[in-house]
Amino acid sequence: MNTNCDLIVVGAGPAGLAAACSAAQAGLKVLLLDEFMKPGGRLLGQLHQEPGGAWWNGIREAQLLVLGAQEAGAVIETGVSVTGLERTRDNGWTLWTNQGRYRSPYVLLATGAAESANPLPGWTLPGVMSIGAAQVMTNVQRVRVGKRGVVIGMNVLAMAIVSELRLAGIDLAAIVLPPGNALSGSSSDPEAVLESLVRFADLAPNAMLKYGAKLLQSSMTRNIALNLYPKQGIRMMGVPLQLRRCAIEIVGRDAVEGVLVADVTPRGEPIAGSERFMEADFVCIAGGLYPLAELAAVAGCPFRYVPELGGHVPVHGENMQTPVPGLYVAGNITGVESAKVAIAQGRVAGLSIAFSAAAENAPDEAEIKDAMKQVKRIRQEALIQFHPDIARSRAKLYQTETV
Ligand SMILES: Cc1cc2nc3c(=O)[nH]c(=O)nc-3n(C[C@H](O)[C@H](O)[C@H](O)COP(=O)(O)OP(=O)(O)OC[C@H]3O[C@@H](n4cnc5c(N)ncnc54)[C@H](O)[C@@H]3O)c2cc1C
Repeated sequence: MNTNCDLIVVGAGPAGLAAACSAAQAGLKVLLLDEFMKPGGRLLGQLHQEPGGAWWNGIREAQLLVLGAQEAGAVIETGVSVTGLERTRDNGWTLWTNQGRYRSPYVLLATGAAESANPLPGWTLPGVMSIGAAQVMTNVQRVRVGKRGVVIGMNVLAMAIVSELRLAGIDLAAIVLPPGNALSGSSSDPEAVLESLVRFADLAPNAMLKYGAKLLQSSMTRNIALNLYPKQGIRMMGVPLQLRRCAIEIVGRDAVEGVLVADVTPRGEPIAGSERFMEADFVCIAGGLYPLAELAAVAGCPFRYVPELGGHVPVHGENMQTPVPGLYVAGNITGVESAKVAIAQGRVAGLSIAFSAAAENAPDEAEIKDAMKQVKRIRQEALIQFHPDIARSRAKLYQTETV
């Protein structure tokens, strides 16, 4: 059993790497475990242009974070999947992994987020994948996902990844809504989707979308826009964004051959007789993200349901501490946000743990408070806002949950 550390961080994404760096700089012996073959988490797939024109290259950002953590003395082990954890009698933790057991007085869970499924007939055909899988294949594995695809679902993540697929020269026939069903919720409602356009308007190189979206704040203007919205869609990066069309079925014999789509009313109801076939050899389903928090549940951490943060989140305070002694959380496990916010949260968690553990160069409370302020500032400035009410719902969570 590996017992030689003060802190085990589960997940070497931006949150885990930043936490490992600040905790190790404060003098803790830190071990970072990740089940993937490379550290970096979801950063490895990210590539987009910031409003000022600079490029956010996730691979480069991940390299810098890895270097920072290693230079501070943290040890990173990849290919290690944590399957369970339990409190020990001496108030520490035992972690079970595919590589044996590990022990540590403190554990930080930084396991990130997962994609929600949005099922529809034909979704088990070869060639159907989640939009995140398309991002990983394109930007991490450098595999071409297909010749011509259809994206089902319009949300922040879909827009970011459509732009990445286009940069890689991949052809997309259209972005359409998912069919209305028990799981699709507001993602199949054209008005709700149009309202959310404003959050990804800055990602859109199309001026009509970018500036037009800002005018769609009121329900009345949204209604007019929906009634006038062209059925063939408005082009974004050369891809028609078809807000008045939904997927009915993914069609194919042995693999994807296309998608059956139908026009919808402004309320999202399919219009009978409007069905048509759209040829494609791959389909990306964009169902949104939720915090990947099973390990926190296994550890006995209580949860709250906060839709603005992506679903069920482990109870934690602004300092990233949970009510379970020695257990901390950071990054998307606490709510779905962008990588820059995850980095800032990771720093807070690393400092808080070093403070609790009375590490050799532990920060004082003022330094932790300052790091918490940075999280808020970065959240406010984030290019990718997964939900408009993140800041408010976090403030509410931290007010009711003083850990
Ligand atoms: C598919 C997908 C695509 C995304 N694309 C973008 C994007 O383009 N732009 C953007 O701003 N945000 C994107 N996000 C949001 C993204 O999660 C954050 O930007 C950021 O990467 C979150 O950082 P994190 O450290 O919390 O988690 P992650 O970056 O997700 O890192 C979590 C790490 O934990 C590891 N892990 C999980 N469970 C275990 C376990 N049991 N044992 C060991 N290791 C484990 C994973 O392998 C992973 O490396 C995406 C999220 C997903 C799920």
